[in-house]
Amino acid sequence: MARPEKKRNVLAPPAFNNFKPAGIQMSKLGSVTLTLDEYEALRLADYDGLEHSEAAIKMEISRPTFTRLIAKTRYKVAQLIVEGKVLQIEGGSVHFANNRIICIDCKKVYPGNFTDNYKYTCPKCGSAKFENLAEGFGHGRCCSQHKNKGSRQN
Ligand SMILES: [Zn+2]
Ligand SMILES: [Zn+2]
Repeated sequence: MARPEKKRNVLAPPAFNNFKPAGIQMSKLGSVTLTLDEYEALRLADYDGLEHSEAAIKMEISRPTFTRLIAKTRYKVAQLIVEGKVLQIEGGSVHFANNRIICIDCKKVYPGNFTDNYKYTCPKCGSAKFENLAEGFGHGRCCSQHKNKGSRQN
């Protein structure tokens, strides 16, 4: 059996996990999947503008691994824009350092933890319907246990 791969650190779950070119039926489009570690690489390098070495530390991977990861991710993003594909974000060997919750009605995102049952009222729209984003990606308890092992800074 292969050694279990070390989980990559992702700051928080993405608020959106499905993108589609406008005006074309889903059935006529191919799809591209970004894993959660690829999403995080893109966020750190191209949204936050970090150096590869800094981003690698945040994800708990080596700098060369980060460089390969971001190259692969950028190709996928270019491919979906050029070719017109559906983008899904899912999977990957990761844990989230923090959770977020999203108001189902107005889509505003709030910080959350891994154990709450999210019985809140949205300050923006008054809705009481929230989605637990980590849970939506099949995470939650596993992430808080990972965190408690103390392998991460911050
Ligand atoms: Zn709301
Ligand atoms: Zn987890």
